[in-house]
Amino acid sequence: MSDKKEPKSIERRRFLRSGMQMALAVSLGGVAGVSFLKSTSKDLVWQLDPFKCVQCGRCADKCVMTPSAVKCVHAYDLCGYCDLCGGYLKPDANARSTAAENQLCPTAAIKRKYIEEPYFEYVIEEDLCIGCAKCVAGCTSFGNGSLHLQVRHDLCKNCNDCSIARVCPADAFQRVPANTPYLIKGGFTKGGTSKDNLKKG
Ligand code: SF4
Ligand code: SF4
Ligand code: SF4
Repeated sequence: MSDKKEPKSIERRRFLRSGMQMALAVSLGGVAGVSFLKSTSKDLVWQLDPFKCVQCGRCADKCVMTPSAVKCVHAYDLCGYCDLCGGYLKPDANARSTAAENQLCPTAAIKRKYIEEPYFEYVIEEDLCIGCAKCVAGCTSFGNGSLHLQVRHDLCKNCNDCSIARVCPADAFQRVPANTPYLIKGGFTKGGTSKDNLKKG
């Protein structure tokens, strides 16, 4: 490994992270905007705290929506861009490849893309995600915990009595202000839609 190559790789990863963070911020910002237009800061919506979630799987089958309004979100600034990704590969996978039999996700909603040795990027295809939390459990157990769940407010009906909240074993669901409707992991949310908003709200 040359001394010159490492800084270049790190620079490249930083660039990728900031690009993906922007993409996520824009994506969630757009969705939050829809919610914000319809709501005042006094209105409340359901959101789950990813730091409390124990990945029980109920978000996938207890939502009134099919597929669930809960989706996986990726905090790229926490991701290790690992080749051996605990959120992507089954623990008993016999190869680090995109072959269907090696993938943990039941709907193949996670796309793996080679960046440069030894880094890979993982992108969630939300239309395919059913919110089962299998990838979240794998990433939390074997990685940095960058994959996590969020209620998407372009899909959520904001039921009076959220049917997932009723059965969540971790008590992770709570009402948050409609104009700060996401509790996203990762540094780019500091001062924005971070966990702190819950306390402020
Ligand atoms: S029901 Fe609660 S603990 Fe289970 S996956 Fe959803 S947020 Fe996590
Ligand atoms: S494993 Fe489950 S939560 Fe993760 S991307 Fe696939 S469907 Fe979504
Ligand atoms: S409020 Fe209703 S639509 Fe939204 S996550 Fe809960 S059950 Fe699903």
